Amino acid sequence: MKKVCAMLLALALLTFAVAAMGENAFKAGTYSGEATGMGKLVVSVTLSDTAIESIEVVESNETPSIGGAIMEDLIARVLAAQSTQLDTVSGATVTSNALYEAVNAALVSAGADPAALVPVEAEVSQESEEISCDVIIVGAGGAGMSAALKVNELGYTAIVIDKQAFVGGATAMSSSSALAQGTRVQAENGVIDSPELCMQELLVVGDYENDATPTWLLARYSGEAIDWLNDDMGVLFNESVGSASAEYSVGRARTSVTGSGAGLCEDLKNKLEEKGVRLILNTRAYELTDTDGVVDGVLARDVNTGKEYRFHAKAVLLATGGYCYSDYIDPSLLSLPNSGSKANTGDGIEMALPYGAVLQNMDMVAVAGHGIRIGDTAHHTQGQSKNAYKTTGAILVNMDGRRIENELGRHADLFPKMKEAGRTFMLMDEAGFKAYAESCVKANFFTQEQLDTWLEENGTGVTVMAHADTIEEVANIVGVNAENLLDEVARYTSFVEKGVDEDFGREVSVALGDGPYYLVEQCLRYSTTLGGITINKDLAVVDSMNAPIPGLYAAGELVGGVFGANFPPSSGVGWALTSGMLAGESIVNAIQ
Ligand SMILES: Cc1cc2nc3c(=O)[nH]c(=O)nc-3n(C[C@H](O)[C@H](O)[C@H](O)COP(=O)(O)OP(=O)(O)OC[C@H]3O[C@@H](n4cnc5c(N)ncnc54)[C@H](O)[C@@H]3O)c2cc1C
Repeated sequence: MKKVCAMLLALALLTFAVAAMGENAFKAGTYSGEATGMGKLVVSVTLSDTAIESIEVVESNETPSIGGAIMEDLIARVLAAQSTQLDTVSGATVTSNALYEAVNAALVSAGADPAALVPVEAEVSQESEEISCDVIIVGAGGAGMSAALKVNELGYTAIVIDKQAFVGGATAMSSSSALAQGTRVQAENGVIDSPELCMQELLVVGDYENDATPTWLLARYSGEAIDWLNDDMGVLFNESVGSASAEYSVGRARTSVTGSGAGLCEDLKNKLEEKGVRLILNTRAYELTDTDGVVDGVLARDVNTGKEYRFHAKAVLLATGGYCYSDYIDPSLLSLPNSGSKANTGDGIEMALPYGAVLQNMDMVAVAGHGIRIGDTAHHTQGQSKNAYKTTGAILVNMDGRRIENELGRHADLFPKMKEAGRTFMLMDEAGFKAYAESCVKANFFTQEQLDTWLEENGTGVTVMAHADTIEEVANIVGVNAENLLDEVARYTSFVEKGVDEDFGREVSVALGDGPYYLVEQCLRYSTTLGGITINKDLAVVDSMNAPIPGLYAAGELVGGVFGANFPPSSGVGWALTSGMLAGESIVNAIQ
C-alpha cells in the first residue's frame, strides 16, 4: 500500500513538474533556427526532454545598440517563460520577432509545436536594493548619457537608469544630425556663425513661441558640447558642417561617424562603460524622493523582475525624453502616424509635477513630412528624402501629379502644403531610389526584407513604394494623374536646363534620369514633442514662482519651450547633447 502511495505521489509530482514547465516534451538535442531581423539571424537551441535549456546566437546583424543589446535579455525571457509567445520589446520589435521566429524554427525542426508552449508566469521578485551616488540620472538617451559623461569627467559618481532594455530612446532613432553652433570644424571651414545669429534663426523657426532661456543655451553652447564630445570624450562626429538647410543661413549640423542615432548612442554607451559609469537598464523610475523638500532620490522598479530600487543622490536629473506616446498629445494629432519612441511616455513630467514643476507649450508637437508609413506607425527618412531632392531629379507631387512646394524649402512652408494635399509622393528615377533605399536600410530605418515586401506589393500595401518602367505606368499604379505628372517632369527638366526653378525656387541641378521609376508615398507624422518642463539657465526645474526646486534638474526633450512652435532641423539631438552636458556641469557646481 505504502509502495502504491509513493508511486502515486511520484507520478503526481512528475505531472506537476511537467505542467510547471508548460507541459513540454521535446526530442533532446541541439537544433538550429533562422529568421530575418535587421538581417539574417541564426540561433542554436539546446533542448532537454522537458525544457529549452539554452539559446545561443550564432549569427546576428542587429543594430548593436538596440537589437544587439537586448538579445541577452530576450533569450533570458524565452528561457524563463519556456515559450516564445511573449510581447516584443518596445523599440526593438523587429529584433524581438526575429529571435522568437528563429527559436520557433529550431523548435519545429525538433518536432515541437511552438504555439503549444504556454508561457510559464514569472515570479515577482521580493528583492530590493538601496544604492547611493552623487547624481542619479533617469533616462539613457542623448541627454542622460551626455550628462553622465560630464558628471564623471568632473570627478563625481553618476548612475544612469533606463526603463528600456537598451540605451538611446528617440536619440537612437534619429539620424544623429546635431545642431552645433560655434564648433572647431565651423571655424576650420571658415563658416561665420554666432550665438546671436543661431538664436535669431531658431526663434524665427519657432514662431517666437520659444522659452528664450533654453533656446539661448542651445544657440550659445551647442558647439562647445559637440567639440567636448568629439575632442575630449572621443564620441566622434564627421568633420563637416554639412550644407545649410533652408531654415539656417550657415551649415551647423554634425552627424555621428559611427552612423545615425543608433551609432551615436552606441558610442556614448561605450564611453560610459569605458569610464566605469554604472548603467542600469530595464529599470523604470516612478517616483522622486525628498528630504524636507530637497529632491534626493528616485524610486524605480525592474520592469522584468519587479525588483525595487531606491537611489539616494545629491541631485536628480530627469532626462526621460518627450511625451509622444502619452495622453498629453493633442487628440487631433492622433489621426497621423506616430514615428516616435514608445518609451517617450512623459514619465519625467509625471514625476516632476508633484514637486511644483511648471509645464509650457504642451499643445505643440513637431509634425514632419519626410517619412514613410509603416503599419500603424511611421519612420522618418528626412536625410534620405532630402538627399534624393538634392542630388537627383526627384520631385514631390500630389494626386494631381503636380509639385506643391520647394521640396528642399523650410519645413514650416512644405509640411502645411503636404497636409493640404492629402497624399503626396516622391517621384524618383532608378539611381535616386537605389541610393535612398540603401541608405534607409543602412540606417536601420527599415529592413531589406520590409523593402522587398513593399516593392513586391507595388503600391497595394500600407507602405507605398510603387515602381514601373515608365512614369505613366507608375502614376497609374497609385492613381496619380499621369498626364500632369509627365507634364510636371518636363517642366522641372526645363527648369534644370535654365538653372532656375520658376515655380518654387528650389535649387536645381539634375533632371530626372532613367527608369524604372518609383513613387514613394511621403506621410505626415509626429514624434518630437515641443512642450515640457520649465527650467532656468542652470537646467534646474523651476516652480510657478520661477524658483528652482532644490535638487531637481531636467534636460533633453523633456524640457519645454526650447524649439517654440516648430522643430528646427537638428535641434533635438543638438539640444539633448548640449543640455546634458550643461546639466552635468551645473549639478556638479551645485553639489560640490
Ligand atoms: C524618428 C526620429 C528621428 C529624429 N531625427 C532627429 C534628427 O535627425 N536630428 C535631431 O536633432 N532630432 C531628431 N529627432 C528628435 C531627437 O531625436 C530627440 O529630440 C532627442 O534625441 C531626445 O533626446 P533625449 O535624451 O531627451 O530623449 P530620448 O533619446 O528619448 O531618451 C529618453 C530615455 O529615457 C528613458 N525613460 C523614459 N522614461 C523613463 C523612466 N520612467 N525611467 C527610466 N527611463 C526612462 C527612455 O527609455 C529613453 O531611453 C528625431 C526623433 C525621432 C523620433
